[in-house]
Amino acid sequence: MLIDSHAHLDAYEDPEDLKAVLARAYDEGVRTILAIGIGDGPETMHQALAIAKAHTGRPAIFASVGIHPQEAHRATPEALADMARLAGDAQCVAIGEIGLDYYHVDNPDVATQKAAFIAQMEVAKEVGKPILIHCRTSELAKVEAKEKFGTADAWEDLLGLLAEYWPVGNGGVMHCFSGSMEQGRRSLEAGFYLSFAGNLTYPKSDGIREAAVMAPEDRILVETDSPFLAPIPYRGQRNEPAMVTHTAGLLAGLRGITGEALAEATTRNFGRLFPATTTE
Ligand SMILES: [Zn+2]
Repeated sequence: MLIDSHAHLDAYEDPEDLKAVLARAYDEGVRTILAIGIGDGPETMHQALAIAKAHTGRPAIFASVGIHPQEAHRATPEALADMARLAGDAQCVAIGEIGLDYYHVDNPDVATQKAAFIAQMEVAKEVGKPILIHCRTSELAKVEAKEKFGTADAWEDLLGLLAEYWPVGNGGVMHCFSGSMEQGRRSLEAGFYLSFAGNLTYPKSDGIREAAVMAPEDRILVETDSPFLAPIPYRGQRNEPAMVTHTAGLLAGLRGITGEALAEATTRNFGRLFPATTTE
């Protein structure tokens, strides 16, 4: 059995389509999905939890809630209060995805992103739940984005804020980990799990693959980030939770373990980080 630790299930807007997506996931051995509750912004961040609540049967669905860094300018006191209310629900097991994104020129400025991130870490502390981190640097961004964000480095800023505001024991996930070995090591030291997505299978991802081999077995997870970022051989197509098997298979091969051992380890890790998901 596998767990997709990060999927945007609210992106499958047609209920019949979602039903088929979930059925295909189950057929591929996906038994649990963490539905990410960021919506298109704060006014739709409840959608993932609504899907989790409406869904009966398998795979099991849990939710998160959070305000994505691209929407950081909309993290008003009202939106944060809404978020805190949703975060208190037993089926909401994490806060996220939250963090910093200096990749797109249209993103809120650094100070706005940092403030929203810090405010959401405070909510997570209040409800005692782990955080799901989104971190994207401007290294590969267009010139305009580089000009806007200057020398600011999203990873340095992120790890600095975690050191200041997020005690190591509180835990969390580096979602779609795409950093370097060094950033991976520092994330592990900060108490985070590294979750690998479809880009692990892409030709240019040597750095991510190195980190995926380096990470200890008790700190790895797999995810789709569906409907985005489909793994090879589906790259460019719409992604869905069933396709997590390709990322998991590649990760097992890299680490020299069987697919079964990888599935067991990632399932155990997910249950340790999100104990509420193991009581069903
Ligand atoms: Zn995501």
